[in-house]
Amino acid sequence: MHKATLIPGDGVGPEITQAAKRVLEATGVSFEWDIQNAGEEVYQKEGTPLPDRVLESIRKNKIALKGPITTPVGSGFRSVNVLLRQTLDLFCCLRPCKTYSGAKTRYENVDLVIVRENTEDLYAGIEYKKDSEGAESIIELVKNTTGKTIRQDSAISIKPISVYGTERIVRYAFEYARRNKRRKVTAVHKANIMKYSDGLFLEVARNVAKKYTDIEFEDKIVDNICMQLVQKPELYDVLVLPNLYGDIVSDLAAGLIGGLGLAPGANIGDEFAVFEATHGSAPKYKGLNKVNPMAMILSGIMMLRHIGETVAAEKLENALASVIKEGEFVTYDMKPTPDDPTAVTTSGVADAIIGKIS
Ligand code: NAD
Repeated sequence: MHKATLIPGDGVGPEITQAAKRVLEATGVSFEWDIQNAGEEVYQKEGTPLPDRVLESIRKNKIALKGPITTPVGSGFRSVNVLLRQTLDLFCCLRPCKTYSGAKTRYENVDLVIVRENTEDLYAGIEYKKDSEGAESIIELVKNTTGKTIRQDSAISIKPISVYGTERIVRYAFEYARRNKRRKVTAVHKANIMKYSDGLFLEVARNVAKKYTDIEFEDKIVDNICMQLVQKPELYDVLVLPNLYGDIVSDLAAGLIGGLGLAPGANIGDEFAVFEATHGSAPKYKGLNKVNPMAMILSGIMMLRHIGETVAAEKLENALASVIKEGEFVTYDMKPTPDDPTAVTTSGVADAIIGKIS
């Protein structure tokens, strides 16, 4: 019996986590779920979108399956997702992107793994509002130390990149590559422009790479890799990126394999791991039983592997792959056109996968 925290989340979260829970249980692996709500509605009721009880549950169980949580844009509470990663020091966001035969994609045989740093960079959440005391002090400091002028009516976000944070994420990428028999790690940066922050990321990545002579290493500038991934995704294998580029390139990679409905993820630290799809809460589809649960189910498969249930993970992945290959019991996003009347529901996909688990 594995104890796990289950966070249904906002928007389509409850529907897809329910589907994932059902298929995980259908593999025969037993779970004792501790269901913990977090997000928008919890914020209205409890005054915080991430109550301590949620963190305590994950600390106790070590693993969580999490639905997406809405983040208000521009104002309101800060991202629960970012807070969760920072509080539990889930320093690695691991997002495998591979094409399954039969999926509606522009490319075949894409097999990328995004290793995104999860705690630093512009996502550190250190920001100063326009006209605040903090913003004014920074504007003054910058003027005194560099002679450069930041416009007085500016808001400021800070981008910290450390040796510690970079070393552990790059090491994770190489260890992952070794464990999973991958051939190459590519470090992605913008060190030509941000010579100190991204420059440090690159310098540390090069140093770490020297210890892994069995795996090829290269680096690429982020704008260049976006173009290259669209033209020649087969050239790449494991990509390691600072937080912001990792977030953006993850969605690009999801687009290569058939969309967000197929892109899973895991937030992993030394002690805890939270498994969640790359996509967000897709609020306009809330309650419609319509969106694709496969990204969430694939995240559940990553969780099975994480807890050592590799046989169940294999069985479930084969069942899911066969549903994709047949193309019949899939949601609208995987049909030739989105208004295809043969598209099935979120729960219909879960039923089809369960029917194929042998
Ligand atoms: P989104 O990923 O929620 O949805 C964008 C579009 O992608 C949807 O409208 C839909 O067309 C498609 N899509 C997403 N998931 C799908 C699925 N499972 N099946 C089929 N199609 C799917 O992105 P958004 O609209 O920018 O964000 C909505 C909210 O989610 C925001 O508040 C955002 O902050 C939040 N968010 C949360 C997480 C997280 O919890 N980790 C991640 C990203 C975004």
